[in-house]
Amino acid sequence: MSVLIPHSILEASEILAQHPAATILNGGTDLMVEVNFNHRRPDSIVLLRNIAELRDWSTDAASGTITIGAGLPYAAIEKGEIARLVPALAQAARTVGSPQIRAAGTMGGNLGTCSPAGDTLPVLSALEAIVHLQSIEGARSVPFADFMVGPKRNSRQPNEVITAVTLPITEQRQGYSKVGVRNAMVISVASACFAIVNDTPRFAMGSVGPTILRAREAEAYLASAASNLNDITEEIAHEFGRIAASESRPIDDHRSTATYRKHAIGVLATRLALKGI
Ligand SMILES: Cc1cc2nc3c(=O)[nH]c(=O)nc-3n(C[C@H](O)[C@H](O)[C@H](O)COP(=O)(O)OP(=O)(O)OC[C@H]3O[C@@H](n4cnc5c(N)ncnc54)[C@H](O)[C@@H]3O)c2cc1C
Repeated sequence: MSVLIPHSILEASEILAQHPAATILNGGTDLMVEVNFNHRRPDSIVLLRNIAELRDWSTDAASGTITIGAGLPYAAIEKGEIARLVPALAQAARTVGSPQIRAAGTMGGNLGTCSPAGDTLPVLSALEAIVHLQSIEGARSVPFADFMVGPKRNSRQPNEVITAVTLPITEQRQGYSKVGVRNAMVISVASACFAIVNDTPRFAMGSVGPTILRAREAEAYLASAASNLNDITEEIAHEFGRIAASESRPIDDHRSTATYRKHAIGVLATRLALKGI
């Protein structure tokens, strides 16, 4: 196996143009598990860890957004200024694996793997994040809804590096929560992000469908039923949870049953609508 080590996004794009079959490695917390189990045998690896620009983040006051480099580890997202600006993303980051996993794992890797159980993905869906990609042919930006196209499938081309993600900064409440078989070090059996953006409720669900699902009917119900989104009644929150659960499309698998997942997503929806963060 050859390991290619670029020091800039441009250099990584050039390497990927020359080696289209090469596999990108960032934190390695997904890929190395696959390699160790012989599920993947890459001939060549493009290691992104030495590209400092992938760990940059910045805000843009004019658009009210934050752009976070795809190579910034969760440990830098779960606390500090980023956590203040995008609290739901920090909550999601805090639930990923262990401190060791969060020191190495990245949002770029979560997007690269694109599992319906990926913890950052419901946040990116609810906040309608933009995913930025770069290849030798140029840069392009894709709404998250068009990026994730199936379970563990995304619209990234083989020669593209995921460079960053742009999210809105909103003063309104947002929250992320997940259910698993224990309290920590767990892949979700149901996960959800609730956010109010421009006075409009948004609710995205993970692990209960082939991709991250938006509960559009539940969102529309809440927007019309609640006179104050910061003070939602128990009755309205329960109905919101019931509708969201009805919009989920879970399956039975080794982690849980479809029935339990549907129940869990309804509970998460109700609780997040009531409390947010
Ligand atoms: C013990 C353990 C616990 C875990 N717990 C959780 C959890 O609770 N929640 C959760 O969501 N995940 C969990 N994971 C999975 C993993 O940590 C995350 O998905 C993490 O975000 C992967 O990031 P990474 O940088 O390590 O990705 P890598 O393993 O380096 O890469 C993953 C995939 O993305 C591609 N890729 C990586 N970066 C880029 C890029 N910039 N551009 C294009 N493609 C790229 C790679 O080619 C590969 O296909 C866990 C893993 C382990 C081993």
